[in-house]
Amino acid sequence: MASETVHNGHERMEFQAEVKELLDIVINSLYTDREIFLRELISNATDALEKFRYLNITEKDIADPDLPLEITIEVDDQNKTITVGDTGVGMTGDELVVNLGTIAHSGSRSFFRQLAENSRKDLNLIGQFGVGFYSAFMVAKKVKVLTSSYRSGAEGVEWISDGSGGYTIGVAEGLPRGTRIVLELKEDAEQFASTGAVKDIIKRYSNFVPFPILLDGEKVNTVQAVWTRNKNEIKDEEYTEFYKFIANAFDEPVYRMHFSVDAPLAINALLFVPDENMERFGFGKLDSGVHLYCRKVLIQQSADGLLPEWLRFVKGVVDSEDIPLNISRETMQDSALVAKIRRVITGRFLKFLGEQAKADPEKYAKFWETFGIFLKEGAASDFTRGKDIAPLLRFASSRSPAGEYVSLDQYVERMPENQKHIYYINGPTREVIEAGPYLEVFRTRDMEVLYTHEPVDDFVLNKLAEYRDKKLVSADQAELGLPEEDKEASEDEKLDGLDLKNLMAWMKQTLGERVSEIRESKRLVESPAVLINLDENFTSSMQRVFQTMNNDAASIGQKALEINPSHGLIKGLEALRQKDEEFAGLAVEQIYDNALIAAGLANDSRDMVNRMYRILERALHKDEVK
Ligand code: ADP
Ligand code: MG
Repeated sequence: MASETVHNGHERMEFQAEVKELLDIVINSLYTDREIFLRELISNATDALEKFRYLNITEKDIADPDLPLEITIEVDDQNKTITVGDTGVGMTGDELVVNLGTIAHSGSRSFFRQLAENSRKDLNLIGQFGVGFYSAFMVAKKVKVLTSSYRSGAEGVEWISDGSGGYTIGVAEGLPRGTRIVLELKEDAEQFASTGAVKDIIKRYSNFVPFPILLDGEKVNTVQAVWTRNKNEIKDEEYTEFYKFIANAFDEPVYRMHFSVDAPLAINALLFVPDENMERFGFGKLDSGVHLYCRKVLIQQSADGLLPEWLRFVKGVVDSEDIPLNISRETMQDSALVAKIRRVITGRFLKFLGEQAKADPEKYAKFWETFGIFLKEGAASDFTRGKDIAPLLRFASSRSPAGEYVSLDQYVERMPENQKHIYYINGPTREVIEAGPYLEVFRTRDMEVLYTHEPVDDFVLNKLAEYRDKKLVSADQAELGLPEEDKEASEDEKLDGLDLKNLMAWMKQTLGERVSEIRESKRLVESPAVLINLDENFTSSMQRVFQTMNNDAASIGQKALEINPSHGLIKGLEALRQKDEEFAGLAVEQIYDNALIAAGLANDSRDMVNRMYRILERALHKDEVK
């Protein structure tokens, strides 16, 4: 099966099963974007050079210290080969076996499963799954890797494979530090042995690689740390191209923030907000997208801790001269220095978002729809930043049309003077909220209520507790603190006095422990009854979450049932109780269940359906009962 012969002591080795499976897909499928193999090899060369540049500072005894740090690409149109070389860290024989014969990342498995199942093969993301090297086999019938580690005295190694099953590996004499990868091109991939075509590909994908790329001896890329240049001299296209390069992305960034500060730390940062939230596509939790540099030297890729976790959708680079180059990567995340950088950048970034929201509210609304969930996560989990995030939050509202958002500032600014609190209510949709009983009192008084649709919103608002000295109050709370109103209307038509008292006592008896009390409602207009929360740190939407977690209706917390004594049903109920207590009992049960539904807390409708039939039956035989 193996096409190469095992010569002068070279050993034949098998690929790990996962690698075989991946290579099988890579070799035997047709792809549209085969040129990305070059981006992947250049990206690996860049990583190797970045690692070397770092180790060269922190370690002694390094092989070939005077070699220039660069990537060389040679095409041979006669022999149909393309060679990608670098003077980076190189690999020892053992490292080769692990790095190019096994797959370490667990995520890569699901990636190639997906590839295998999909008829439209898109290998574009291969690099993000940590298996970019194998894309070489899309275009090559044979791949030869010649490499020598940066450790002085390291022995050179040669690795050869045709991608089917295994590879040979053995000693190679006289190699300089770094790696050379020679691809013998397949017949249908011979265009990659043309200088012109290869140059285009490099320009397209790898223009911002921070090392010279020499194609047949000529430098073809723009080697620059964009972030260290003067803002005014950078064109939009250059920024976008740089974003695509560092984020491995294909979209256009929505926002970009480029800033530098000298105190308390010298920081130069260039941050981008992508167009898409990849977590929405089921990619799992994103890794940090910000790379840490010190004076243009990459210290850590996807550096954890540079930004808080809830800003993990942000891409970019942070360069700080104050980072000691020999800082250990393990301790960096916990270092006080990184915490300081995080504080500065987070503050600047939130301020930046605030400015953007002001400058172009529509654009910000789009950003909010895509990334708002991360800001909510921040407001709910990061107590040092809740106050800074609050003005950036957006909500649907009873005062604004569907699809438009309101900020807390807008709400506060148009509040009538006698209104003390900010009100919100949770429900799955605008329609459900507006049909429910909680909004009634606000509608009659023409007061604005914010609509929240996710349980996390209630956690956020509960955590914030107040905004600009106004308390944030869920409209399903017992104490709404509404401004006093002159009472006049329909006082005479209410059920009151002893009748009301008796009815409430009897209702409590009928409902038992399901409610803590029955109270006369000051808020209801059209509905007969409503469930309210006695614990003000616990809204119904939060309870719904606990209910699903515990699958237990008993965990819904302290509730009171408020009844509306002006409502025909309540007025009639006391009369019915005198005549037919059993029927009245059924009605009370049903009123309670309806209130549960309005609160979004009903999770078992079996009893209710049976009861409904009994009520209907009673209603049909009403005259006979008399
Ligand atoms: P990734 O780059 O995401 O780790 P790859 O499949 O592209 O995945 O590469 C696998 C590994 O092989 C790299 O992590 C690196 O250790 C090693 N490697 C690949 N190319 C080179 C190179 N030019 N120099 C040194 N090491 C390399
Ligand atoms: Mg790679």
